[in-house]
Amino acid sequence: MPAPSDPAALGALYQELILDHYRRPRNKGELADADAHVALKNPLCGDEIEVRLRRDGDTVTDVKFTGRGCSISQSSASMMTELVRGKTVPEAQALLRRVAELLGGSADAATDPRLGDLRALSGVARFPMRVKCAALAWRALEESLREEGRGKR
Ligand code: ZN
Repeated sequence: MPAPSDPAALGALYQELILDHYRRPRNKGELADADAHVALKNPLCGDEIEVRLRRDGDTVTDVKFTGRGCSISQSSASMMTELVRGKTVPEAQALLRRVAELLGGSADAATDPRLGDLRALSGVARFPMRVKCAALAWRALEESLREEGRGKR
Protein backbone atom coordinates (compact mmCIF):
# COMPACT_ATOMS: atom_id res chain seq x y z
CA MET A 1 0.00 0.00 0.00
CA PRO A 2 1.71 3.24 -1.11
CA ALA A 3 1.28 5.93 1.54
CA PRO A 4 0.18 9.30 0.20
CA SER A 5 2.28 12.18 1.55
CA ASP A 6 -0.79 14.31 2.23
CA PRO A 7 -2.02 13.48 5.78
CA ALA A 8 -5.65 14.15 4.87
CA ALA A 9 -5.44 11.74 1.93
CA LEU A 10 -3.78 9.17 4.16
CA GLY A 11 -6.54 9.60 6.76
CA ALA A 12 -9.22 9.06 4.11
CA LEU A 13 -7.43 5.98 2.81
CA TYR A 14 -7.12 4.58 6.31
CA GLN A 15 -10.79 5.27 7.02
CA GLU A 16 -11.66 3.40 3.85
CA LEU A 17 -9.53 0.41 4.90
CA ILE A 18 -11.16 0.25 8.33
CA LEU A 19 -14.64 0.34 6.83
CA ASP A 20 -13.70 -2.27 4.24
CA HIS A 21 -12.62 -4.72 6.96
CA TYR A 22 -15.73 -3.85 8.98
CA ARG A 23 -18.13 -4.46 6.09
CA ARG A 24 -16.29 -7.46 4.60
CA PRO A 25 -14.54 -9.06 7.56
CA ARG A 26 -11.82 -11.56 6.69
CA ASN A 27 -11.80 -14.95 8.39
CA LYS A 28 -15.01 -14.35 10.29
CA GLY A 29 -16.81 -17.46 11.46
CA GLU A 30 -16.55 -20.57 13.56
CA LEU A 31 -13.59 -22.89 13.39
CA ALA A 32 -14.17 -26.60 13.91
CA ASP A 33 -11.62 -28.44 16.06
CA ALA A 34 -10.06 -25.25 17.34
CA ASP A 35 -7.10 -25.78 19.66
CA ALA A 36 -7.83 -22.56 21.50
CA HIS A 37 -10.95 -20.47 21.98
CA VAL A 38 -11.02 -17.18 23.86
CA ALA A 39 -13.97 -14.81 24.23
CA LEU A 40 -13.43 -11.27 25.48
CA LYS A 41 -15.60 -8.21 25.96
CA ASN A 42 -14.89 -4.54 26.08
CA PRO A 43 -17.67 -3.28 28.37
CA LEU A 44 -16.74 0.37 27.78
CA CYS A 45 -17.92 0.14 24.18
CA GLY A 46 -19.94 -3.08 24.14
CA ASP A 47 -17.55 -4.88 21.81
CA GLU A 48 -17.40 -8.66 21.82
CA ILE A 49 -14.73 -10.78 20.15
CA GLU A 50 -14.19 -14.52 20.10
CA VAL A 51 -10.98 -15.85 18.64
CA ARG A 52 -10.52 -19.45 17.64
CA LEU A 53 -7.26 -20.78 16.41
CA ARG A 54 -5.80 -24.00 15.24
CA ARG A 55 -2.16 -24.92 15.70
CA ASP A 56 0.16 -27.45 14.24
CA GLY A 57 2.93 -27.58 16.80
CA ASP A 58 4.32 -24.06 16.92
CA THR A 59 2.52 -22.74 13.86
CA VAL A 60 -0.85 -21.01 13.81
CA THR A 61 -2.39 -22.80 10.86
CA ASP A 62 -5.79 -21.13 11.05
CA VAL A 63 -7.43 -18.34 12.99
CA LYS A 64 -10.98 -17.06 12.85
CA PHE A 65 -13.08 -14.65 14.81
CA THR A 66 -16.69 -13.92 15.56
CA GLY A 67 -18.04 -10.90 17.32
CA ARG A 68 -19.94 -7.68 17.19
CA GLY A 69 -19.28 -4.12 18.12
CA CYS A 70 -17.85 -0.93 16.70
CA SER A 71 -15.98 -0.70 13.42
CA ILE A 72 -12.62 -0.30 15.20
CA SER A 73 -12.98 -3.52 17.21
CA GLN A 74 -14.28 -5.60 14.32
CA SER A 75 -11.87 -4.31 11.68
CA SER A 76 -8.93 -4.83 14.05
CA ALA A 77 -10.03 -8.47 14.52
CA SER A 78 -10.29 -8.96 10.76
CA MET A 79 -6.82 -7.48 10.25
CA MET A 80 -5.45 -9.59 13.11
CA THR A 81 -6.54 -12.86 11.49
CA GLU A 82 -4.86 -11.88 8.22
CA LEU A 83 -1.60 -11.03 9.97
CA VAL A 84 -1.40 -14.04 12.27
CA ARG A 85 -2.41 -16.93 10.04
CA GLY A 86 0.65 -19.01 9.16
CA LYS A 87 2.86 -17.36 11.78
CA THR A 88 4.75 -19.28 14.44
CA VAL A 89 3.91 -18.56 18.06
CA PRO A 90 7.11 -16.50 18.62
CA GLU A 91 6.34 -14.52 15.44
CA ALA A 92 2.81 -13.88 16.63
CA GLN A 93 4.12 -12.75 20.00
CA ALA A 94 6.56 -10.37 18.29
CA LEU A 95 3.61 -9.05 16.31
CA LEU A 96 1.67 -8.52 19.55
CA ARG A 97 4.50 -6.38 20.92
CA ARG A 98 4.58 -4.35 17.70
CA VAL A 99 0.82 -3.82 17.84
CA ALA A 100 1.13 -2.60 21.44
CA GLU A 101 3.68 -0.04 20.18
CA LEU A 102 1.36 0.98 17.34
CA LEU A 103 -1.55 1.53 19.72
CA GLY A 104 0.82 3.31 22.10
CA GLY A 105 1.45 5.92 19.42
CA SER A 106 4.79 4.76 18.01
CA ALA A 107 5.43 6.59 14.73
CA ASP A 108 7.88 3.86 13.77
CA ALA A 109 5.27 1.10 14.18
CA ALA A 110 2.77 3.23 12.23
CA THR A 111 4.91 2.82 9.11
CA ASP A 112 6.01 -0.80 9.68
CA PRO A 113 5.02 -2.82 6.59
CA ARG A 114 4.79 -5.96 8.75
CA LEU A 115 1.62 -4.52 10.27
CA GLY A 116 -0.15 -4.42 6.90
CA ASP A 117 -3.63 -2.92 6.95
CA LEU A 118 -3.45 -2.58 10.72
CA ARG A 119 -1.45 0.61 10.21
CA ALA A 120 -4.80 2.18 9.37
CA LEU A 121 -5.55 2.02 13.09
CA SER A 122 -2.49 4.07 14.08
CA GLY A 123 -4.65 7.18 14.58
CA VAL A 124 -6.56 5.36 17.32
CA ALA A 125 -3.56 5.84 19.65
CA ARG A 126 -4.75 9.36 20.42
CA PHE A 127 -8.04 8.08 21.84
CA PRO A 128 -7.64 5.84 24.92
CA MET A 129 -11.24 4.55 24.71
CA ARG A 130 -10.70 3.53 21.08
CA VAL A 131 -7.40 1.84 21.92
CA LYS A 132 -9.37 -0.62 24.06
CA CYS A 133 -11.59 -1.35 21.03
CA ALA A 134 -8.61 -1.93 18.74
CA ALA A 135 -6.71 -4.01 21.31
CA LEU A 136 -9.57 -6.40 22.10
CA ALA A 137 -8.90 -8.93 19.32
CA TRP A 138 -5.20 -8.84 20.08
CA ARG A 139 -5.77 -9.50 23.77
CA ALA A 140 -7.91 -12.48 22.76
CA LEU A 141 -5.14 -13.67 20.46
CA GLU A 142 -2.57 -13.31 23.25
CA GLU A 143 -4.68 -15.45 25.57
CA SER A 144 -5.41 -18.05 22.91
CA LEU A 145 -1.69 -18.43 22.23
CA ARG A 146 -1.20 -19.29 25.89
CA GLU A 147 -3.59 -22.21 25.55
CA GLU A 148 -1.30 -25.01 24.49
CA GLY A 149 -2.31 -27.30 21.66
CA ARG A 150 -4.16 -29.37 24.27
CA GLY A 151 -2.18 -32.46 23.29
CA LYS A 152 -3.46 -32.32 19.74
CA ARG A 153 -0.16 -32.40 17.93
ZN1 ZN B 1 -15.51 -0.34 20.32
